[in-house]
Formats: sequence, structure tokens, C-alpha cells
Amino acid sequence: QYAKKNKLDQQIYNQKIDVNTLERLQLINELKSAIEQGELVLFYQPKLDLKLNKVTHVEALVRWQHPDRGMIPPDTFIPIAEQMGQMNALTRWVMNESIAQYLRWKSQGIDLGIAINISAENLKDPYFCQYVLDVISDSNVPIEALTLEITEDAVVSDPENAIKQLKILKKYGLKLSIDDYGTGYSSLAQLKQLPVDELKIDKSFVQNLMVSQDDQIIVNSTLQLAHSLGLRVVAEGIEDEAALAWLTERGCEMGQGYYLSRPTDADNLVQWLTSSRYA
Ligand code: C2E
Ligand code: MG
Ligand code: MG
Ligand code: MG
Repeated sequence: QYAKKNKLDQQIYNQKIDVNTLERLQLINELKSAIEQGELVLFYQPKLDLKLNKVTHVEALVRWQHPDRGMIPPDTFIPIAEQMGQMNALTRWVMNESIAQYLRWKSQGIDLGIAINISAENLKDPYFCQYVLDVISDSNVPIEALTLEITEDAVVSDPENAIKQLKILKKYGLKLSIDDYGTGYSSLAQLKQLPVDELKIDKSFVQNLMVSQDDQIIVNSTLQLAHSLGLRVVAEGIEDEAALAWLTERGCEMGQGYYLSRPTDADNLVQWLTSSRYA
């Protein structure tokens, strides 16, 4: 009986792997044309300034609106894009679309800075910073309206090259942010060398803040560390009012999370903003 069940489990397991592999292969095949054919969309999530109690920025978060599979989240296809050498094309699209959206909002009298996520693969390309500066100078976007969010691992693999490029971008006025802080393997020595303006505490430390003494200790000491290095802090993953109040009391500069708003399309975001007390 046991052997039989075990065999059945094994079959189911094998089938699962096959389906996953097949799906992966299909996505790999389709991703390139998806970028070209306009199947990507940007959602936006507000970044609330906790001192002004006002949304001053949004983060652009990409989704793939697949014709058959529906909305595919970035965690599913960004790794594929990275492996397939598609990250520059993807980031180029995200940058252009973010800038276009910034200008559309601006023409409606809405002034929202935009944060764009950058992958480790982007920074490996020695021409990346030149490309970014070219895109910006070809448009009318004020450079200080843009923030680049970079995860720690983007810097760990080739710190010398990454730091060199980030310094150039910073010199031209881009804002730089360390994303998912606390989950990577960067050392304090490395962080100190980075020309960043902002540190985003990973949501895993924030989501359960009110019930976890450990998370409170981690967040508190991160706030102190960042502030003494002259960095502003963004807490991501705020899911309840108590966490928002706790962070505001302790001098955290910005907050982001489902309690305020989930990422949503540009029109919905404006609607939400107009009816919220954070406009
Ligand atoms: P991230 O940059 O750290 O973005 C935050 C993620 O946390 C987003 O997931 C967001 O929807 C989610 N989130 C925000 N607030 C909350 C909350 O209160 N609770 C919970 N449980 N989650 C929250 P999303 O949109 O699925 O993006 C996942 C990751 O994919 C991003 O993490 C980022 O690393 C990557 N990504 C998204 N868009 C892009 C892009 O355009 N380029 C690159 N290179 N990566 C991107
Ligand atoms: Mg981010
Ligand atoms: Mg993050
Ligand atoms: Mg993340």
C-alpha cells in the first residue's frame, strides 16, 4: 500500500515538474516578443512621506498582461528575463513608460516622483549608466524626479563596477535607493561606499512589526544606523495602521504598503489619491 502511494506521489511530482518546465519554456519563448508587442504594464504603488503625510512618490512595478495566462507577476518573469539577457530591453521599456507617465501626470497638475527597480544584470552592463542618462536627456523629465531602486546583490557581485556607475548616476542628480535592505549579504563596509540617498527596509521586517519584538529591534537599529549615515529610510510592507504610527513616531521618513494602497494602474492610483487624505 505504502509503496503504491509512494509511486503515485512520485508520478504527481514528476508531472508537476514537467508542467513547470513546459510553462517556463513557453514564457522564455514569449518574453522577448511580449516586450516588443506591448504586453507589459506598469502598476504604481504610493510612497508616503510620513512627515508631510503626503504621497510624494510612486514605485513603478511591472506586470506581464499575458493574452492567455492573465496577469503574470514580476517574480515569475524577471528571473527569466535576467537569464535570457532581456533585462536591458525590459528596463529600457520600464524607464520610457515611467517617464511618459510622469509627464502625463505632470500635464494634469499631478507631481509624483517615480522610483524604478533596477536589476543586478543592468549594472553589469558597463554602458548602463550612459544609457540611463541618454533616455533622461532625450525627455523633459527633471532628473531629480527619478529614483533607482537597487537590491544589495546588485552591488555584491561586482562592487567596483557597480559603485563606479552609481557614482556617475548620482553625480547627475538621480536619487538612489537600496531595496530589500536586510535580506542581502552586503557588508556595512560596502554599504558605506555606496552613494545612495535612501534605504528601504525589506517588508519581511515590517509586515509583522506589531507582534514581533525581534522585528522591532531590527527596524529600530536600522533606523538609527541609516540616520547616522545620513540616509532616509523607507519602510515597505506596512499592512496596518499601528505599524504606520509606530514607524512615524520613530522618525522613519517614508512608508509603503497594502495598508495605504496596493500597486495599481495609473488611473486607479490617481482616483485613490484624489479621495485619500494623503493627496
Ligand atoms: P520590490 O521592488 O521590493 O517591490 C515590493 C513588492 O512588495 C511588490 O511586489 C509589492 O507589490 C509588494 N508589496 C508592497 N507592499 C506590500 C505589503 O504591504 N505587503 C506585502 N505582502 N507585499 C507588499 P511585486 O509588484 O510583485 O514585485 C516583486 C518584485 O519584483 C519587486 O520587489 C522587484 O524586485 C521586482 N520588480 C518589479 N517590477 C520591476 C521592474 O520594473 N524591474 C525590475 N528589475 N524588477 C522589478
Ligand atoms: Mg523596489
Ligand atoms: Mg523591496
Ligand atoms: Mg523585493
